[in-house]
This record gives sequence, structure tokens and C-alpha cells, in this order.
Amino acid sequence: MKIVILGGGFGGITAALELSRGVAHEHTVTLIERAPVFMMGLRKLWMITGSGTRRDGERQLVALQASAVEIRQATVQAIDVQGRTVRTDAGAVPFDYLIIALGAEPRPDLVPGFSPAVYNLYGVADAERLGQRIREFQGGRIVIAILGVPYKCPPAPYEAAMMLDDLFRRRGTRSAVQIQTFTPQPMSLPVVGPQNCAQVEGLLAAKGIAFTPNRKVARLEGSTLVFEDGARVEADLVIGVPPHRPPAVVKESGLQMRGEWVAVDPATLRTSASGVFAVGDVNEIPLANGMALPKAGLFAESQAKVVAAQIIAELRKAPAPAAFDGIGHCFIETGGGQATMVQGHFLASPAPALTIAAPSAQALQQKIDFERSRLLSWFGS
Ligand SMILES: Cc1cc2nc3c(=O)[nH]c(=O)nc-3n(C[C@H](O)[C@H](O)[C@H](O)COP(=O)(O)OP(=O)(O)OC[C@H]3O[C@@H](n4cnc5c(N)ncnc54)[C@H](O)[C@@H]3O)c2cc1C
Repeated sequence: MKIVILGGGFGGITAALELSRGVAHEHTVTLIERAPVFMMGLRKLWMITGSGTRRDGERQLVALQASAVEIRQATVQAIDVQGRTVRTDAGAVPFDYLIIALGAEPRPDLVPGFSPAVYNLYGVADAERLGQRIREFQGGRIVIAILGVPYKCPPAPYEAAMMLDDLFRRRGTRSAVQIQTFTPQPMSLPVVGPQNCAQVEGLLAAKGIAFTPNRKVARLEGSTLVFEDGARVEADLVIGVPPHRPPAVVKESGLQMRGEWVAVDPATLRTSASGVFAVGDVNEIPLANGMALPKAGLFAESQAKVVAAQIIAELRKAPAPAAFDGIGHCFIETGGGQATMVQGHFLASPAPALTIAAPSAQALQQKIDFERSRLLSWFGS
């Protein structure tokens, strides 16, 4: 059998490793990824504040500890689910099983006026550029604006605000810096509910970070935000979170979608086409409160494990393995050497059962270990 994985991020790497161990000697497993290197999204925040470098977190995909997997560096151009073939810029690849793990793309082009005057918090080149700007920043107004939804790792803009607060305090220039956050959503992290949001917003307030919900940016004019009602906020530095969309090839695949995203069975991650799965940011899993499962690496990883286990079980004619349970966490780094996390059962009914503990040094260590442990087991260093 030919098993093809599209995307070498959290979900694709996990699927490749699991299948390499589980079935790759009897079947072929191919991972197709356009980028030569992997780096975790969370490192961008460390690059901005200077607590980590890009180089320390990047790994060559060819170093993946999945010897039985063929890694092809290529761009996927079309997914033909009827013809059971993926077209890439390096040729066609037929499949029996397909795992789509192509992620979600930040789309600054969907925000009128988004220009190099604005820093995209979710772009690696912008994170480097922003790190440089922050190093030189003497004082003024920093605005962190969520410019549309959905976006991955929902706490990241608030983490950035709190980490910058901490940085300027350590530098002794905090009193010269205003930090403001804006979101079009009614609260900081709607998926976690009003009570947990009050906790996050309380942390922001305690650090002197302004938080304004229900503010939709209509357009940007240089470093000025123009809101839907015409109000304007001028900033010295704008850090933007663009809305995310799936890669075009996914939209054009003919698979059944849920809004913009691939529709899947939440238990099995199966799509509308037989033998085709979608894991991670590229899918949308509805929650009992009417919202969607947050787009996070931890979930891409756990979904990929569920999918690999199903393929392995099918090929071995073994009983079906456990379903995706929606249990997990998202880190919230809070500055001052601390972090917390939103954790619990996201698929619980009638609403996700989630808590946010008080920030601690231990939780920050867990976040650091989260990256380190994956890099070590995936790439051997
Ligand atoms: C600032 C920030 C902080 C974050 N913090 C956390 C955190 O603390 N915890 C957490 O769990 N998650 C965090 N995340 C979110 C996490 O990075 C994503 O949710 C995760 O990467 C999703 O995994 P994925 O496999 O679905 O997609 P991705 O990891 O994005 O992988 C998709 C891959 O597909 C490739 N690709 C796309 N299109 C094509 C194509 N046409 N051809 C070939 N290849 C293609 C891309 O190059 C990419 O490598 C953070 C993200 C950011 C940006």
C-alpha cells in the first residue's frame, strides 16, 4: 500500500514517525513538504523577545528519525481524491491512504493596508525583523491587533504582550512603553468561556496591558489602525495577527468542507473521501459550545497518532484503536519566567471543561520541554 502524508509540520511529522515504526517495512510511506526545515511556531515569540534564536529551533527535515519514510521536498499543487493522486511540482504521487496535514496559512493579504510597516506575529521572517525592532525600541505605543479569525494558538498574541511587558520591565523602560491589545472577538479566548477569559484579562490588566474586545480593524494605514466605526489608533509599532485560511490546494480538492476548513469525523479524522484523513490546523472540529477546536500543535500531534494507529490497525486487520479524545492544553507564557496553560477536555459536552492554573515557573519549564522533547525524539538533537 502507498501511504502519502502532505505537510511536514506537527501533524505530518508525527504521522510519518508513527507509520515508520508501525508499517513502513511492508508498505511505502512518503512525506511531501515544501520547506527544507522545521521550526515550532512557539519559538517565534522567543525570537521576538530575544530569549531564543531561530537557529536553535530549526531542524533539517531530512534528519527526521523515520528511516522507513521517503521525504520529498516538493510543493503540492493538486489533490485528486477521485484519481487517488497528488500532483506536485516534482511529479505525481499516487496513494492508497492520504493524510492531509497542510496546516493553516496566515493571510495578511486579506487585511486591507497590511504593509511592511506592520509586523506579522505569525511569520518567521517578520519575527526576526520584529526582534531587531524590539531591541532598538526606546518607547512609545505598541499595538498587538488580532486582525481576523480564526488564527492558530489563540493565546499567542496575549503571550506576546505579556512577554514584551516583562522585557521592558527588565530593561527599566516599561514606563515609556504603552502596550495595547485589540481583538474583534467578544473576549480574549472565547473557546475557554467567560470565567477563564476573566483570568487571562486579569493577568493583562495587572501588567498594565490594555485589552479591548469587539474591535474589528477595517484597514491599516501605515502604523495606524482604522476600525470599522472609523475610529483610529496611531501606534509606533503594530504587531498584527492576520486571519488564517487553509492552503488553496485543500479548498480545491473537492473534499467536503466545514466552512473554509476540511470537514472530518472528530473521532477518526476521516474526511468525506475513503482512505483520506485530515489532521491539525487544516481541519475544523466543532465543540459542544458551537465554537471550534483551537488550532494547536499538540492537537495536530494527537490527531496524527490516532490516524496512524487506524491505518496500522487496518493494514494488520486488527481492531480499531482509540478515537481522538480532545484532551490537551495550550500554553500561555506570562513573562517573568512563568507560564500557565489552558487545559482540559475540549470535546466535553455541553461545553469544553477547561481550567487555567495560576502562572508558575514549572509551567514555563513544561513549555520549554514541549519543544525540546519533540525536537530530540523527532530529529535526534
Ligand atoms: C506564535 C505561535 C505560537 C504557538 N504556540 C503553540 C503552543 O504553545 N502550543 C501548541 O500546541 N501550538 C502552538 N502553536 C500552533 C502550532 O504551531 C500549530 O497549530 C501547528 O503547527 C499545526 O500543525 P499542523 O501539522 O496542522 O500544521 P503545520 O505545522 O503548519 O504544518 C503544515 C506544513 O505544510 C506545509 N505546506 C503547506 N502547504 C504546502 C504545499 N502546498 N506543499 C507542500 N507543503 C505545504 C507547510 O510548509 C508546513 O510545514 C503556535 C503557533 C504560533 C505561530
